[in-house]
Amino acid sequence: MPMSQDFKQRLFSQVDSIAAHYGTPFHIYDEKGIRETGAHLQRVFAKVPGFREYFAVKALPNKRIMQLMLEMGFGFDCSSIPEVHMSRELGAKPEDIMFTSNNTSQEEFKYAAQDGGCILNLDDISLVDKVPEFPELICFRYNPGPRRTGNIIIGNPVEAKYGISHEQVVEAYRKARARGAKRFGLHTMVASNELDYTYMVETTRMLLDLAVLLKKELDIELEFINIGGGFGIPAEPDKAPLDIDTMALEITALFDAFKSDNGFTPNMYMESGRFMTGPHGCLISKAINFKHIYRDYVGMDACMSALMRPALYGAYHHIDVVGKEDAPKNKTYDVVGSLCENNDKFAIQRQLPEIEEGDLLAFHDTGAHGHAMGFQYNGRLRPKELLLRTDSSVELIRRAETMEDYFATQNFAADVFTP
Ligand SMILES: *Cc1c(COP(=O)(O)O)cnc(C)c1O
Repeated sequence: MPMSQDFKQRLFSQVDSIAAHYGTPFHIYDEKGIRETGAHLQRVFAKVPGFREYFAVKALPNKRIMQLMLEMGFGFDCSSIPEVHMSRELGAKPEDIMFTSNNTSQEEFKYAAQDGGCILNLDDISLVDKVPEFPELICFRYNPGPRRTGNIIIGNPVEAKYGISHEQVVEAYRKARARGAKRFGLHTMVASNELDYTYMVETTRMLLDLAVLLKKELDIELEFINIGGGFGIPAEPDKAPLDIDTMALEITALFDAFKSDNGFTPNMYMESGRFMTGPHGCLISKAINFKHIYRDYVGMDACMSALMRPALYGAYHHIDVVGKEDAPKNKTYDVVGSLCENNDKFAIQRQLPEIEEGDLLAFHDTGAHGHAMGFQYNGRLRPKELLLRTDSSVELIRRAETMEDYFATQNFAADVFTP
């Protein structure tokens, strides 16, 4: 289950006219699918105390999409000043924003404290003394180190730069309380694109065990635990999706047991990005050139400025040639962009139907960490973003970059300095 059959049908049936109206390339996101995934999460976690998703803004930092998240009652997980700014501009309240920065600057702390603040998630014990205005509600990011074998993508927690160590936990909360904190949360993020639901159950158990420790050592009753993001989506059509229904059942049982053992229970938060929007977006690009040298190449009108993941991680993005979904895949292509970088390839030696000039290709699962990771190297600009709305109309939600955008940072008042 990469892109759903439902999204595919609704999109492909009108993609020619959408492409004619807006021009290619573009990312297009499915409002219906995003809302369904949001509702699904809320349904399966309904019995977990105070369940809330804080959408990881970096996955799809588009205001129109973020508006949908707010409408569903979700908050935002931010890790930079512009992300916090965008959230506030949309009307997010202080406790709708979780600010999880790393290697945090004073400027970031000051910004986070403005407008009533936000939920500050500290990445290190040394930062307790560096927060200029210490908030009443504070959270720490936890790194289990050798206690967990990280998942394949995020790697070994011992090598991860994030969070406080296990040995620092009690001291961190003690110090925070000494600085005036009265309400406490605990956060971790130890997985990325994880498809094994038991991993998330173990993460929840790990945080609940720490909640017991903090109660015992410091008489602190955590207000929430945040199990982070990293919920995976299968890239290949034959791969099984993450079983969030069973995951939610098992997590609910953990909270029930915690409540009867400890007489209180923290709320549960998560901050999923990829799972919320990943499968509900795709990149539509047109085949414009062909060449046949040692391999057969299809040249697209988009390049890695629109989708970095294949070049960066060797990530697989499933491809449909629109209108030829059921045609035999009897050709082998490298599907490439136009950047002067040989890794500017959407797919390498991929079996596809015969592609003709003008064919539209749909690259699946670009709804998270797709457009957002784009860049301008080589003067290749980022494409537009569209929203396929529930009433099947289409809305432009970000225009394509222009040369003016590209040159904007070179337009400034002269500043020559002779030291
Ligand atoms: C990137 C990130 C997320 C979202 O990760 P997904 O894999 O998109 O779910 C959540 N929390 C933090 C702190 C992150 O850095």
